[in-house]
Amino acid sequence: MMTVVGITGGIGSGKSTVCKIWQSLGARLLNADALAKELMNTDPEIKQQLVDKFGTDSFHENGSLNRDHLAKEAFEKNRVEELNAIVHPKIPQAVQYKIQQAQTDGINVFVYEAALLLDNLRPKQMDVVVLVLADRQKRLERVQQRDGSREQEILQRMEKQRNFEESVHEADYVIRNNGTLQELESKAKDLYQNFLP
Ligand code: ATP
Repeated sequence: MMTVVGITGGIGSGKSTVCKIWQSLGARLLNADALAKELMNTDPEIKQQLVDKFGTDSFHENGSLNRDHLAKEAFEKNRVEELNAIVHPKIPQAVQYKIQQAQTDGINVFVYEAALLLDNLRPKQMDVVVLVLADRQKRLERVQQRDGSREQEILQRMEKQRNFEESVHEADYVIRNNGTLQELESKAKDLYQNFLP
């Protein structure tokens, strides 16, 4: 039996880092942003709606997604919700498909990483939900270091997210990531080996 794990947490909390550790232990990963991108590139209905709503510039001449154009439309013109309304309804079925694929491939642990997990998908599909938490200041410093983005920009992105500290009761396991990377690695490995498969 494969275990399906949903992992969530705020920007810079350490979700991707935990996922990479689990991947090294044999898990199959699916990242929500990567999945959305894949669907925008391949799903004919989504592609048509993107063209209808955001114009033919949504795709390059070779047919690939014009991410710069869509990012501009979505973020600079405040049309993120319109974009999400096109893509999000298709996500659960696409996740289900990937879960089935992993099952067929004999994978033991499937991990779905999504900042919006608890909003959209607290999904019957997830056997276990893991929440990664870190103090705001730590997250800010880590994202600054990772992306080189400005403090103001990161704070704005943080403000748009839920307060994950309040979501503790919605998770089956909580990983607190205020220590070193080594400490995170040890917590992630412990959870994986003792509780997941
Ligand atoms: P996002 O939502 O922005 O994708 P995330 O939750 O996936 O973020 P990560 O990318 O895993 O977060 O971590 C953010 C950055 O902080 C990364 O560069 C990562 O290497 C670093 N980091 C994570 N945990 C620690 C830690 N305990 N000590 C030092 N650096 C850390």
